[in-house]
Amino acid sequence: MQILFRQTMILGLNSVLNCWPHVSQRKLVKMPNGGPDNCGTCGFNRRNRGVWRNPVPGEQQLPFCEIRGLTVLADHWTYCQNWHTRTKKLIGPIYASGLYENGYRRIPWHGAVEPESIGAGACSECGKTFADGIAIVSIESARLVFCSNLHYLQWWKRQHPEEDAPMSDDIWEH
Ligand code: SF4
Ligand SMILES: [Zn+2]
Repeated sequence: MQILFRQTMILGLNSVLNCWPHVSQRKLVKMPNGGPDNCGTCGFNRRNRGVWRNPVPGEQQLPFCEIRGLTVLADHWTYCQNWHTRTKKLIGPIYASGLYENGYRRIPWHGAVEPESIGAGACSECGKTFADGIAIVSIESARLVFCSNLHYLQWWKRQHPEEDAPMSDDIWEH
């Protein structure tokens, strides 16, 4: 199943997850997970108070990245390189979990805009119709939709020519 959970859905599920802190939305339906190096286990997540893999995160507050200044509602499905460096200087984009294509894939956010899951549509890149896709809701223009991680990434790269997204490198190879 190819699903990116929309933020509105995540909000509704937060109360459930708060009672089950180490189980994310997608883990409920698919195993294995998209990687343990996610915001949910990151010391920069306000919930974790500087402790990586904190066994007792502060579940009473929303997941919030203290170095990027963003709420990361799908924290168990959001990633960045600073998890690994543990340094406060920002490195690269934030990543969402993309479509499941022969494995879990990570796709970069469009700045502070998180890519969302959608159902059927027609790809803004290639015109192909799809049953499950990715969308970017732009404030300035109409919503863009994509049939695959690759076509989203191609669009993203044109928008961010000076940026790299190494956590998405495997998408170019598929
Ligand atoms: S965005 Fe990066 S630094 Fe911030 S909480 Fe998530 S993994 Fe940690
Ligand atoms: Zn396409």
